[in-house]
Amino acid sequence: MSDLSRPQGPKIIAVANQKGGVGKTTTAINLAAGLVELGQRVLVVDLDPQGNASTGLGIELDDREFTTYELLLEDIDLKSVILETPIEGLMIVPSTVDLSSADLDLISNEKRSFLLHDALRQTAMDAFNLDFILIDCPPSLNLLTVNAMIAAHSVLVPLQSEFFALEGLSQLMLTIREVRQSGNKDLRIEGIVLTMYDKRNNLSLQVEQDARENLGELVFQTRIPRNVRVSEAPSFALPVLSYDTQSKGAQAYRSLAMEILNRNAAKAA
Ligand code: ADP
Ligand code: MG
Repeated sequence: MSDLSRPQGPKIIAVANQKGGVGKTTTAINLAAGLVELGQRVLVVDLDPQGNASTGLGIELDDREFTTYELLLEDIDLKSVILETPIEGLMIVPSTVDLSSADLDLISNEKRSFLLHDALRQTAMDAFNLDFILIDCPPSLNLLTVNAMIAAHSVLVPLQSEFFALEGLSQLMLTIREVRQSGNKDLRIEGIVLTMYDKRNNLSLQVEQDARENLGELVFQTRIPRNVRVSEAPSFALPVLSYDTQSKGAQAYRSLAMEILNRNAAKAA
């Protein structure tokens, strides 16, 4: 199916929101695991110097010899930078704090906004036979995030169900518009996913109502509930889908993966 719908290689999705702590990394890891359960081959690119996606997927610091930094700025053999995770079919390009200096190193590079785009589209990538690439963005609209948006087909926005959640969105949408004008005119919004949702909390209901009123179809039907198993899983270096496979969080990420696969199949049809 993936071959028919994506003849041009993997679907590349940037998971972005300039606010920290809204569930970007959690979504990148667990959506990836959900897609893998559905038979997809998925690469997570850790584009955050904090390296939380790398840690959450079981990549020890000692094993991060080559990272996203090298992927962006050096001509590196993909086999040494794309690592297997404990989940079969799920791969990662890890990151370390070294990436925090990349922003500066990028500025002097004339292709600065296109480095990730070019790295992910080199022909050597075909050997990995990927269906999806999920980019875990840093909590900022810096040059790294712009690289992700230039590289991606679409942006997936985790929206934490809390006060002011929607206010940050306008700035994000502005950046998406700028990227469309400056180098990736076809950039789409994959969708907005409500995270840390608590249906007993009026605020969650209010954020959901506002989001659905203002953004309509862009908001996924799936809501990711606040679930302690989700927050425990990274310390066991596993996606919640493996850590507690029947938890509410695991089920929600499975449902999100299904929605995304369906949406992409529908678009391709
Ligand atoms: P970001 O990458 O946007 O900074 P994270 O994915 O790291 O955000 O999430 C921030 C914190 O919230 C983490 O400690 C994470 O474990 C926790 N968290 C994220 N999603 C959930 C959830 N659905 N239920 C409970 N805790 C969550
Ligand atoms: Mg993060």
